[in-house]
Amino acid sequence: MDDCIFCRIIDGRVPAEMVYQDDSIVAFRDARPASPIHVLIVPRKHIPTLNDIAEDDRILSEIGTVAKKIAGQLGVGESGYRFFINVNRGGGQVVFHLHAHVVAGNDLGTFFIKAAVCCAIIWRKLASLFGR
Ligand code: AMP
Repeated sequence: MDDCIFCRIIDGRVPAEMVYQDDSIVAFRDARPASPIHVLIVPRKHIPTLNDIAEDDRILSEIGTVAKKIAGQLGVGESGYRFFINVNRGGGQVVFHLHAHVVAGNDLGTFFIKAAVCCAIIWRKLASLFGR
């Protein structure tokens, strides 16, 4: 489809950093990554949303298999990653060509939040000990 950004990436009219390609699926880095690792897994066939997948279509299982492969290649298969699909506007979907997100690598943010909470707890304990 001409007005679909992902169709344009798939046929090479728009550049993207590809990380995987086969006969039915491509995967490329998200242009606005939410984490150090943020890859989009996209079927070559234009299917607007998850709701539009035919019952006998095996594309979701193929996408899952590719997600596992990519996570392994990027070194987060064991440590862990998020795998999700936004469906329609209410589900946060912005590009209406089916795609799954593979997101990982932002443990540092969680670490700093945990560290800040620990510091606050220790500070309160010390303050109560010394009667402040
Ligand atoms: P969603 O909200 O699930 O529809 O996600 C669409 C994703 O596509 C967003 O995370 C965008 O940053 C990403 N995106 C949009 N245009 C491009 C592009 N040209 N290349 C790579 N990623 C894109």
